Amino acid sequence: MIDLNTHPKLEELLTWGWVDFEPFYKELEKEQLTSLNIKDWLANWTAIFDLADELYNRLYVATSVNTTDQESTKLFDTFMEDTFPKWKASEQKLKEKLLASGLRVAGFEIALRNMRADADLFREENLPLQVKEEKLSKEHDKVLGAQTVEWQDEEKTVLQMEAVLRNPDRETRRSAWEKLAIRQLADRQTINQQWKDYFALRKLIAQNAGKSDFRAYRWQQLNRFDYTPEDCYGFHKAIEQAVVPAVNRLVERRRKKLGVKELRYYDLYVDLSGKPSLKPFADVRDLAEKASAIFNLVDPAFGRYFDTMDSEGLLDLGNRKNKATGGYCMTFSYTQRPFIFANAVDTHQDVLTLMHEGGHSFHAFEAFHLPYHQQRSESNVPMEFAEVASMAMEYLTFPYLEDKLGGYYSAADAARARVDHLELNLRFWPYMAIMDAFQHWAYQNPNEGIDPDRCDAKWAELETRFRPYIDWTGYEDVMMTGWQRKDHLHTVPFYYVEYGLALLGATQVWMNALKDKKKAVEQYRSALRLGGTVSLPELFKAAGARLSFDSATLSEASELMERTINQLEESY
Ligand SMILES: [Zn+2]
Repeated sequence: MIDLNTHPKLEELLTWGWVDFEPFYKELEKEQLTSLNIKDWLANWTAIFDLADELYNRLYVATSVNTTDQESTKLFDTFMEDTFPKWKASEQKLKEKLLASGLRVAGFEIALRNMRADADLFREENLPLQVKEEKLSKEHDKVLGAQTVEWQDEEKTVLQMEAVLRNPDRETRRSAWEKLAIRQLADRQTINQQWKDYFALRKLIAQNAGKSDFRAYRWQQLNRFDYTPEDCYGFHKAIEQAVVPAVNRLVERRRKKLGVKELRYYDLYVDLSGKPSLKPFADVRDLAEKASAIFNLVDPAFGRYFDTMDSEGLLDLGNRKNKATGGYCMTFSYTQRPFIFANAVDTHQDVLTLMHEGGHSFHAFEAFHLPYHQQRSESNVPMEFAEVASMAMEYLTFPYLEDKLGGYYSAADAARARVDHLELNLRFWPYMAIMDAFQHWAYQNPNEGIDPDRCDAKWAELETRFRPYIDWTGYEDVMMTGWQRKDHLHTVPFYYVEYGLALLGATQVWMNALKDKKKAVEQYRSALRLGGTVSLPELFKAAGARLSFDSATLSEASELMERTINQLEESY
């Protein structure tokens, strides 16, 4: 078995192949499980899992910090082709062995529940269908990835074009938005066909697994044991009642301030102050040092965690050539350290990303004390709560954005940054409701759901219900094809409501902090320490929040957001 004293050094681990892991897995497979040795067996499983997981994540990070690093790319590809499938198959065997043993271990209830659900869904005949589904997703990504346009003599991506929506000149915004929309509409038939292919595949997958429909299959696959589709319908209604009127008021004010007759989609993101955009930091060193000061003010422990990452080279925050896009927080399970990756270019979004990923990294730090990987690994910490950890950190750092506290902005600019954040968050709920309601409708009415024309009609109906404030006159085709422009809806079905629920949890943590900051942070930390050892409602409860779907909780949250926006706007 793995001897803790001879644990490999990191440099050595990076050269490991399946031959190095295999003997450990084989030994675990052979062992006779009893109530006496189960804890040791689980601990040994964790020891080998953490090594493989760290290797996987280290190689992933190496390829994203330098996409042209051929050595790392080769190691990563070899890992994916050789080690990864064998590792996953061995993991599956151990899960089955544990389930078959019928043994129970305290703190392992949730992990066992999830394993049982996965095992119950598993069907050999679905494997080739899932491969097909993945292939389809790759093709779908390719179609979206190729959606570039010529803008001011340069080729621009969708993301770059969306950034133009913040341009103060309306005509510039309109023409950029229109140009992108026309480009996206050119793929309409292709995406229609992909949708039909997905639909047929998913129906089969659900049938093979003995599920009545794809939603029931997906619910179990996503380990949603603590809320039902009915709860989601309730959540949509609550958003309609509690959030949509507040957004209507804010958007109406926006329309008046902009001095336009009809509010268009391309009017939604422009800063209303008329001031130049925020420039929070001089360079990434400055970004990190100010973040350290801010985290320290939220809780000295967070400051220490962040400084540890900084001093150990676990922050790669700058944007540069040959770096992958986006931002993420990755956990290295063996060395028990998180790593934050970002592409900062001196915007407020970079600050928000760092606060957000910071929250994820603190979650990892707090949960490292748990003995078994199943209690802290990504697959067992529910997304609905993992995003509370990150989104709540965006709120908890709110009060410290000002430079007089070590942060990034003058008081007026800090207020502007907060207004932007709150407005985007408030407007997120209605959009999330459209996304979620659309998918419930599609998969529960499969004969209609497979028909792209019906999908267009449904999306249009939901737009009118949840975002009545956007004037789409003359752009009806763009409006009704909104379902084609969100990749989640195609590649990770039903995965989106998580963010809406987490946002509501994070807002409750913020509310608590306004009353008693110390207590709110303590509760937040104690919830992070639980990893994935308790149910979703219990995680929320530990954080001082409630997993809720009702309009009372949403009203309270959206009223606070709207009130704060109004107050802050008076200060600049
Ligand atoms: Zn996140």
